Amino acid sequence: MPILKQQMNKEALQLHAQEIFAFNAQASQVPGVINLTLGEPNFSTPDVVKTAAKAAIDEQPLRYTLPQGKIELTQAIADYVQRHYHLKYDPTTEVIATIGVTESVFVSLMSILNAGDEVLIPSPCFTIYQPIVQLLQCQPIMINTAATNFKLTPEVLQQTLAAHQQVKAIILNYPSNPTGSTYDATELQALATVLREAGIFVLSDEIYSELTYDVEHKSIAQLLPEQTILMNGLSKAFAMTGWRVGYICAPAAVAKPMIHVHELMTTSISTVSQAAAIAALTEGEADTQRMKDQYAQRRDVLYQGLLKLNFTVIRPQGAFYMFMKVPTKWQPQDDVQIAHDLLAAEKLAVLPGSYFGVGGAGYLRISYAASMADLQAALTAFENFSKKFN
Ligand code: PLP
Repeated sequence: MPILKQQMNKEALQLHAQEIFAFNAQASQVPGVINLTLGEPNFSTPDVVKTAAKAAIDEQPLRYTLPQGKIELTQAIADYVQRHYHLKYDPTTEVIATIGVTESVFVSLMSILNAGDEVLIPSPCFTIYQPIVQLLQCQPIMINTAATNFKLTPEVLQQTLAAHQQVKAIILNYPSNPTGSTYDATELQALATVLREAGIFVLSDEIYSELTYDVEHKSIAQLLPEQTILMNGLSKAFAMTGWRVGYICAPAAVAKPMIHVHELMTTSISTVSQAAAIAALTEGEADTQRMKDQYAQRRDVLYQGLLKLNFTVIRPQGAFYMFMKVPTKWQPQDDVQIAHDLLAAEKLAVLPGSYFGVGGAGYLRISYAASMADLQAALTAFENFSKKFN
């Protein structure tokens, strides 16, 4: 048996993504299951995008492109982030099209970290950050945000920075997977003040930026242009998870090594997906709005329904997730066990908060990227499950 690199050892890595896939696979076997586990839009990719991709297949020789993407694509990305977030990036030197935000995270971390560096990660969080940091022989410093309404506060940030000497970067994600919370302009400004002083890189995963409700999304890149590595993508805003398109925007000096790493890993992203992405970014905004309106309605129905059942829920301001506290009367209190019990007893699949790291223990993540009928059925299932503990 060949010896695995230490960091590749499954036991050593925090591979929560595998737990999620395993739970989802188990849920899919249950006939009639109400599956609210997936963080995937349940809409078709917009027609305008599909048409552009078909035309690319028929009309163009599908060759390799520049590593960071065709200029038409990096220009479309630069125009989009300027239009939406008032950010200015040079499409030739400061924008990189990646295989989803997943690759953006990998490329960014690989380009800036040296072995032994520390990376701050507010928790609960998306599952890939921690293992990627570990793979690069660096130290993830998880900051539990459960006590501060699932948001990082400037005070806690300052304390954590003071306690660690090797911090090279922080990974922010807002609106957040798994909680749906986000930062408003004032909160962001307060965090930016501390981060400016600390002078560390800010990897900002803003993949849900287009799916915000009640608040306007503001990118931290606007406040910290020199330090921020902005990561965003088309998976959620344009229902394009399988097309695998994300992007990085960063100052030229920071982007330069990233373009090299990205080229080594990929040559470039798929040329068909590049054509699709150009269409989405230039012609797909009405589709994003249409989907967002639906998510907002679903959020309201689910949130009001859960409140009516007297559950404690974080009111989501973005993404398509709701984070619900395991009620104190439910037994056992363990969120992983409760998720399994809900599946067995009510055929309702939601994810344990613990799968998103330390800060998520005692919560359940409900995805409302699902039909209204499924959300109504989920409310009934929660009600029935809860009755057993009366
Ligand atoms: N970042 C966050 C916060 C996510 O929730 C996800 C997917 O669920 C991703 C990144 C990955 O996105 P992509 O499809 O662009 O790789």
